Amino acid sequence: MTKTVGEYLLAPGAVSEFERVLSGRVAGPGDRVVYLFDHYFADGKLADRFPIKAADSLIYIDTVDEPTTDAVDALVARLRTGPAVKAVVGVGGGSTLDTAKAVSNLLGNEGNAADYQGWDLVPKPGVFKIGVPTLSGTGAEASRTCVMMNQVKNLKLGMNSDHTVFDRLVLDPELTASVPVNQYFFTGMDTYIHCVESLAGSYRHAFADACSEQALRLSREVFLDTDLRSAQNREKLMVASFLGGSAIGNSYVGLVHPFSAGLSMVFHTHHCIGNCIVMNVMDEFYPAATEEFRRMLRMHGISLPQGLCRDLSEQQYRALYEATIIHSKPLANALGDGFVDILTYDKVVDIFRLM
Ligand code: NAD
Ligand code: ZN
Repeated sequence: MTKTVGEYLLAPGAVSEFERVLSGRVAGPGDRVVYLFDHYFADGKLADRFPIKAADSLIYIDTVDEPTTDAVDALVARLRTGPAVKAVVGVGGGSTLDTAKAVSNLLGNEGNAADYQGWDLVPKPGVFKIGVPTLSGTGAEASRTCVMMNQVKNLKLGMNSDHTVFDRLVLDPELTASVPVNQYFFTGMDTYIHCVESLAGSYRHAFADACSEQALRLSREVFLDTDLRSAQNREKLMVASFLGGSAIGNSYVGLVHPFSAGLSMVFHTHHCIGNCIVMNVMDEFYPAATEEFRRMLRMHGISLPQGLCRDLSEQQYRALYEATIIHSKPLANALGDGFVDILTYDKVVDIFRLM
């Protein structure tokens, strides 16, 4: 069984309909609605367009760093006091959407975020949750996970659960108009890269393939167009992200995400830019897509950090290797069960040195 998002409203300006989205079947134990907005919107102008009442909670999420279990726990401790919550609303990019999903799960269950990092560990549904993406590409609005860094265990893992899936989404492409071009590119590319990896893998799933093919087609239309952020392209990318995220639960990624996870563990590189840094050196494994990716970079004048892993200590290369090779499922999806024979320590280090 696979759960997907129950209902969504897709239209430019859809945010103005939020009152309608919140009403009707939203039935939690209390009256309070918790709104979590990305701190980019801290001037309050976007919040003014939502029907926020005095009894509700409005919190701005600092997304300078990606979500951590500690930050989620601190937020939940604050929200567990006070009136019962009937709905959690996340308004932002992948970091804020994932935070909202985790908070919702923890308001419906006891304990801490780390208790539920893994597969199908969330026992009860969380409170009703609504996602409003303001940045397209991660697919967090559609997926059944919410990724958090656990600093104690030094691992990055989500609460993979049907209960993590948003109940409703408001997909309003007008909200991504303010995203700076680099961020728009890096995050948007997460969809493209995910689809390239999944369609090149050996693990196939008809639904995931169908979503990935459409998401890839839309991503190409967007990133091979000169006006990346036109209204039409922002709508296409929002749909591509939603489709890509819908595929995530049924598909495995390939080589890019494990290497990117290595960068993330060792240098705290953010997910989407990390993927782009890796995609740029994937000639041996995904030659056509790597060439196409570089064409997109050039078209939009996007530059990536250079020489990031050229001269590192033996200890750092070892850490990068360990953090990459641990992702056996996607690596086997890309290279077969014999991936360890291909991705030897020296080979992995050689690939990192290219970045
Ligand atoms: P993000 O949410 O971290 O935001 C990146 C930056 O964009 C922030 O500075 C934010 O303030 C800014 N921003 C967001 N919306 C904006 C807007 N409309 N205008 C201007 N600035 C805006 O970025 P992301 O790339 O969407 O998310 C990355 C996170 O998503 C990572 O934590 C990653 O692990 C997670 N992720 C989750 C899934 C999933 O399935 N749950 C999948 C992939 C990645
Ligand atoms: Zn990704």
